[in-house]
Amino acid sequence: MSRSTAADSVGSLLAEIANFLVDGVRILSLSDRRHWGPDEHEQLRALEDALDEAKKDFQGLAPLVNGQSHYENDRSHDSLVALRQLRNNFSAHIGCLKDWSRLGGPIDPAWVRDTQALQRDLHRAQYRAAGRIFASGQESSTRCLGAFLVYRQQRAWRNRQELSVEEGGYQRRHLEELRVCNNVGGFHRHGEEDIAFICDFCDGHLIWEDLDKMPSVRTAHDNSIWTSSPTATTLPLANPPPANQPSPSPSPSPVPPAQRPGQPQWQATGFSKSQYEQKQVVFAPVAIANHSVPIGGGWQSFITCPFCEDDTDGPRDTDDEEDVWRPEGLFEDVASFQEHLEWQHPAATPAESSCLVM
Ligand SMILES: [Zn+2]
Ligand SMILES: [Zn+2]
Repeated sequence: MSRSTAADSVGSLLAEIANFLVDGVRILSLSDRRHWGPDEHEQLRALEDALDEAKKDFQGLAPLVNGQSHYENDRSHDSLVALRQLRNNFSAHIGCLKDWSRLGGPIDPAWVRDTQALQRDLHRAQYRAAGRIFASGQESSTRCLGAFLVYRQQRAWRNRQELSVEEGGYQRRHLEELRVCNNVGGFHRHGEEDIAFICDFCDGHLIWEDLDKMPSVRTAHDNSIWTSSPTATTLPLANPPPANQPSPSPSPSPVPPAQRPGQPQWQATGFSKSQYEQKQVVFAPVAIANHSVPIGGGWQSFITCPFCEDDTDGPRDTDDEEDVWRPEGLFEDVASFQEHLEWQHPAATPAESSCLVM
């Protein structure tokens, strides 16, 4: 079945898809449970989960794009194409359940995986649709909606930064930043050695090369790397690699660098995957909060430097205007972003501070 009407909108297509899911739940609920095995129970649960997530996504996304009616009435071409395809896939999937209820017999256990795959497709399709609405309303900013959500959270904290942060407050804050990142997309092992963040809103990829685990705390506030196992400060991956790495000993303990107010805090301490050597990387939320929708058919997101952006946004004397250092633009990947940060916005590293101490 493939219908295509001029009246289709994001809202009407999502409603059709929700109706298919409701149908599926009803078909199972009305069938004779005396013949059910674990597969039937699992199938019902999968359909209910898909319906719950679809509702939750819908309710969470609408306020981000100027409200429910704006979201429902959107007719962005790419969103309609994706959602029509998805509606047809859901229709075919629920058709299988209808046949099963007519013919009887045990349910096909493979259908649960189909339901779960469709649920993931629907989650991404909703995020993309919201991302497109957000992008179409942006004239100056290059951030995708996913980046904007992390950025907004960081801003809210920064504006309160003058207030003292209690013991452990930074760790909690960093974990909260990462929680927002995990709502926006996911971390995955990419190839043998790299870690990728993939944004659900724009499908943009950010790649950290040769990294064992993604650190979950900024280096400047990472007390735990001096006091406990580094695994306590790393972030689990969606596809965790086998945990066969030795625990590195927190050898010659440098004094944690004190936080200097106003100094860019972009570094995190990780370990290379290939050599398992300590290295400084860009703290994931710093890159994620500043990524943009991939352009020109690419898959990697570009990154805007937030520190340069602050410099050019901030108040300044008109006389100094020519001296203001302007960003060269967007960085094409995390590696070139990090290179820029190292040169233009150096932060105190453990190595530097241990030199200072010695
Ligand atoms: Zn994105
Ligand atoms: Zn910069």
